[in-house]
Amino acid sequence: MAKKTLTGPRPGEPVSELLPPRPSLPAVREIAKDCKACDLYKRGTQTVFGEGPKRAEIMMVGEQPGDAEDIAGHPFVGPAGQLLDRALAEAGIDRSRVYLTNVVKHFKWEPRGKRRIHAKPNAAEIGACRPWLETEIALVRPRLLVCLGATAAQALLGRSFRVSQQRGTFVESSLAPLVIATVHPSSILRAPDEDSRRSEMQEFVGDLEKIRRALDKAQPRTTGDD
Ligand code: SF4
Repeated sequence: MAKKTLTGPRPGEPVSELLPPRPSLPAVREIAKDCKACDLYKRGTQTVFGEGPKRAEIMMVGEQPGDAEDIAGHPFVGPAGQLLDRALAEAGIDRSRVYLTNVVKHFKWEPRGKRRIHAKPNAAEIGACRPWLETEIALVRPRLLVCLGATAAQALLGRSFRVSQQRGTFVESSLAPLVIATVHPSSILRAPDEDSRRSEMQEFVGDLEKIRRALDKAQPRTTGDD
């Protein structure tokens, strides 16, 4: 039951208390703007909710918005998002088929000089934010869900999931008919030299090509499409 008041949610008020009885993506995106369910709302500029077609075939889930996303208010628009766009194009996946979101919707950072350095969200922050992600998955109902990086993979597929060992392999999950994990594009940007960056990009594009082939083979969604 929505309890949004003129003053907005209380600090610590759980997301479950904010969700309307019959949520829609535009409605939850609007409500999430005022979320204070964990302390990250104090640190980020704004909530960065997921974006993409409301019935996207593919949902990609990263860890959290970065510095550029926090300022822009849109997911995957910074350097990692641009790399993801290039990889999707190389793999032959139309970006318009993809809904992009994150496990945590506020940017967690630590100051270093004048820069804001990414800090990993903890289990309590991931847990507090999870109902937003669950609502996105329930509303978009992707045919294929991709976890980008260890934080997303462990949040959605279990703490023992190892992206380094299990990337590029479809796993059983109730989240979507097809579920897979690969690296987060930011890890490719952090590669120590040009050669390793190139080979990691190739491997990433290889995982995305596997995703495209799996979708091409799978039955198209026939009910509730729009
Ligand atoms: S990170 Fe998630 S749970 Fe925490 S305040 Fe932001 S939107 Fe709410």
